[in-house]
Amino acid sequence: MRVRVVVDLDDQSGMAEPFVFSNWPPAIDEEQRNKLTLLATTYALSHGLLYLPPADVPPPAPTSAIHAPLALFPAPFPRKLFENVQRLQHIYNVLYARIALDTAFLDTVMGAEGVAKVDDFTRQLWQSWKRLRDEGTPEPVHLGIFRSDYLLHAPHGSDEPVSLKQVEFNTISSSFGALSERVSGLHNYLLASTNYYGCSRHLTSDNLPPNKTTSTIVEGLATAHRAYGVKGAYILFVCQANERNVFDQRLVEYELLEKHGIHVIRQTFDGLFTSAIVSADRKLTVSSPLHAPPLEIAVIYFRAGYTPVDYPTPAHYAMREALSRSRAVSCPTLALQLAGGKKVQEVLTRPGVLEKFLLPVENKGRFGPEVFSEADVAAIRASWVEMWGLDDHDGVEKARTRSSTLVLKPQREGGGNNVYRSAIPEFLDKLSREERAAWIAMALIEPPESVGGYLVRAGGADTGAKKADVVSELGVFGWALFSGREAGVEERTGGWLVRTKGRESDEGGVAVGFSVLDSVLLV
Ligand code: ADP
Ligand code: MG
Ligand code: MG
Repeated sequence: MRVRVVVDLDDQSGMAEPFVFSNWPPAIDEEQRNKLTLLATTYALSHGLLYLPPADVPPPAPTSAIHAPLALFPAPFPRKLFENVQRLQHIYNVLYARIALDTAFLDTVMGAEGVAKVDDFTRQLWQSWKRLRDEGTPEPVHLGIFRSDYLLHAPHGSDEPVSLKQVEFNTISSSFGALSERVSGLHNYLLASTNYYGCSRHLTSDNLPPNKTTSTIVEGLATAHRAYGVKGAYILFVCQANERNVFDQRLVEYELLEKHGIHVIRQTFDGLFTSAIVSADRKLTVSSPLHAPPLEIAVIYFRAGYTPVDYPTPAHYAMREALSRSRAVSCPTLALQLAGGKKVQEVLTRPGVLEKFLLPVENKGRFGPEVFSEADVAAIRASWVEMWGLDDHDGVEKARTRSSTLVLKPQREGGGNNVYRSAIPEFLDKLSREERAAWIAMALIEPPESVGGYLVRAGGADTGAKKADVVSELGVFGWALFSGREAGVEERTGGWLVRTKGRESDEGGVAVGFSVLDSVLLV
């Protein structure tokens, strides 16, 4: 069944003209599609919108690249909703800083009596953090580079106006900032060079918002570097050995050097075993055959370490702990990584929890100078859908009864870990009572139906532009730098990401091959 989801356009002339999602994308003929695809892939290859090609053993120095998966047309988002989530990001930046600073809260939710009791990965990270605190390691300086992800919600057969609902809040390895900026550039270029053959009056440059994600991420890293206070110190990028999304990382590295004169060294956890030393006064240095003496590290930027796969042995967890013991600013710290747990996202929805973090009457200024209002709390709550823990007294029963409208999530990042709809009852049959504490149930967000897109992939049978029914996920970037509770939070919002997936796919990871990179069309 086709459902018309429309958005009232309050355009300047005062004429309200609705945007109809199911009319997107506008019609183009085959010749136009082929030309747009040629221009798009060539632009991508010319502008670093790239991936390393798949390889069993990656060559030491890359000799070729493929264009990242991309969308030919930008994805429609109502202007007011887009602007609203940009505003919310300021509150989210401060909120997650406060969560990371609330040791008692994180201990309760993610610690030995909470998720860490049943989830080994969480336990390893939490125990490291606990040991550091027990040793008397001073409160670290935390840097969070965040991405808050949303889907449009237009529930079937309901009068509810279309809204943006939060999927999750990422506090570690929030990726595709730099590539997403390149996709904005791509869609601006296609508009400028072809006017998209006049196929839609919505495709104007006024409706393609600027996207400055790279400079936002770089500003966060450079601010943390300044806070560390040693001019020639390096930033350490901790990377995965088999990473194909290297250009997204390198573009950040180049801008750090070009705009701030800050050098980067890339290392895997394995590499750090032989190169990293944390001295008695907690200085982190990394040695390299090309540098003598070893390099002092100001900031550790984790683009690895978000999944158990990155810690194949106890020594890998020990390395993370050693890095966390150092004075270098971690992005993120263990506390911030734990704050990004799906369980925290669920606990925040419980009565009074958000209020405690944001409202001055509730927290009596324990979290620094910034004060939020009841309206701010309401706006954040309005960005959520219903969630509960499977360890609630009726959590499993409720999940069973309502499985067709739910997703279950464990405490994992990186895509591919969730359980959807009809797979839920059987999954619940196998889940032990203890394991329930590590899972949350979340109402499915319902994106507008019958929205289409052209998805362009490189490689294999999928090469070229394929028309598909799609769902687009919007991510908003921000960063926060903070230390103690009193000091307050330095933070910024800037840039965004759109990932578009075929509607038949429940998951949306680009890296895992489900999605393509896209940009925003304001309607
Ligand atoms: P991860 O940290 O692994 O990225 P997510 O919470 O983002 O986990 O879930 C992965 C994907 O699953 C999302 O990108 C989205 O496509 C889909 N998804 C997650 N939660 C929901 C939801 N409540 N409604 C609809 N789709 C969802
Ligand atoms: Mg995530
Ligand atoms: Mg996600």
